[in-house]
Amino acid sequence: MHTHPALLRKMTTILADPVQYQLSLGEESIQLNRVLGKKISLRFTGEIFCTQCGRKTSKSFQQGFCFPCYRRLLECGLCVIHPEKCRYYEGICQPDDWAHAHCHVPHVVYLANSSGLKVGITRESQLPTRWIDQGASQAIVIMRCKNRRQAGLLEVALKQYINDKTNWRAMLQRKPADQDLSQTYREILAIAEQALEVLQKEYPDEIECLTATNTVNINYPVQQYPEKITALDLTKTAEVSGILLGIKGQYLILDKGVISIRKFAGYSVQFTLPSSSATAEDLGKSHGQGQNDRVGGSDRSSSEVEICNL
Ligand SMILES: [Zn+2]
Ligand SMILES: [Zn+2]
Repeated sequence: MHTHPALLRKMTTILADPVQYQLSLGEESIQLNRVLGKKISLRFTGEIFCTQCGRKTSKSFQQGFCFPCYRRLLECGLCVIHPEKCRYYEGICQPDDWAHAHCHVPHVVYLANSSGLKVGITRESQLPTRWIDQGASQAIVIMRCKNRRQAGLLEVALKQYINDKTNWRAMLQRKPADQDLSQTYREILAIAEQALEVLQKEYPDEIECLTATNTVNINYPVQQYPEKITALDLTKTAEVSGILLGIKGQYLILDKGVISIRKFAGYSVQFTLPSSSATAEDLGKSHGQGQNDRVGGSDRSSSEVEICNL
């Protein structure tokens, strides 16, 4: 079957064993796990629309924004990219402004194992979505704080000891060896004790290092990992097709290469899928999490803003 051309949005996920992936395309909703092992194709129609304001744009920035929206996101000290530079305390950004809402909400610091150990931060409301989007196989929340700036300062304090990047190629090539994240957390608390104390004194009662916290294990629907990674790009090849061998993070792993769905958010695409992949209950409706992924419009809440480490 061919879907109608619709704007690509990041896949919505449910933490199950394995993770369940759903792709909403306009009115249609596709349960991607059912398409594993089958041939699919995506064809880019040539049009791109901002995922925030719906405006047509020739290029998208930060996974789906037009330039004016992207510029708005950078207003607060570039805090979408450098959380520790967030200037919310100067009163320049309002919590009800989509471009600044993330500055004011509770964040967590976590350890994850995606391509190896890393430290990261995200809004508390983004768990476990954030971990799944990064393709983490294990993750644990280690700290809670009141806002984005504090999370950024905690991350800066910890990244002298732990990596803060995911190697996405390695993440897509294998499941990493299991790590004892609780043990790593204890070691980090010891090694970073002084730096953490300074921050806790500066923000009394606002930064909490968790004492009881559990590791979450995440399994992805992957039948076969690729030996080498070829990144497929809709701006270079308008039609991308292949057998779907797996889904991990926000990537489809095809026999011909991998494609990041999130990278092409806002691109108008037409999907071709085996007809058995869409059933009556999938079509014409999108429920639950899928509902947030409707095309464009200014009613998008800030909680859907998806930028690097938000
Ligand atoms: Zn826009
Ligand atoms: Zn900010």
